[in-house]
Amino acid sequence: MHLSPAYPTTFNTWDQEPPLSSLPLADQLSIVRLAKDTKILWILPKAIYRCAQYDAARITEITGPADAAPILTATAKLIPEHWLLIQALAAPLSGELGCTSSSACALARVRPFISRATENKADPLALVPESSWSLLSEEVCDQCLVDAKNVFRSWRLKIWEDLPGMFDLPSWIDLQKAKEADLEF
Ligand SMILES: [Zn+2]
Repeated sequence: MHLSPAYPTTFNTWDQEPPLSSLPLADQLSIVRLAKDTKILWILPKAIYRCAQYDAARITEITGPADAAPILTATAKLIPEHWLLIQALAAPLSGELGCTSSSACALARVRPFISRATENKADPLALVPESSWSLLSEEVCDQCLVDAKNVFRSWRLKIWEDLPGMFDLPSWIDLQKAKEADLEF
């Protein structure tokens, strides 16, 4: 089993099809435990992120409260990120000088993201499907579409950058170095 693609340490590889994502939750939790015990920390951002998508009660039932706590903390930190995006999109955007309908656009820009935020999903790094951007393009002016995509991209990149810190792990640079050492690139 090649672990590297399943546990990316760079932003560009984060969205690669994760070969292990269909594992049962119990196995995913075991991977987190094992990575901590063996100090293979570069596995943890993606491993914890995946576990954070599950129901808190199920996680606690499987691992017990001590092992569940860091994952539930991760969930609690990831969920509110959606609201920061909404806040950023609701504010006047940088290119708004070229916006042809500022109040209608501001409302429409946030609409596709409201459901992501209210579902309490801990998956702010989920990509927005092209179909959602197409729908948005029918409701906002051209300038706002460009701006909204840029705001989304920088917000998402920042979450990715902050992820190791949110999970009390070393920086991506250090994780990447450890990964290279472990895999003997
Ligand atoms: Zn506009």
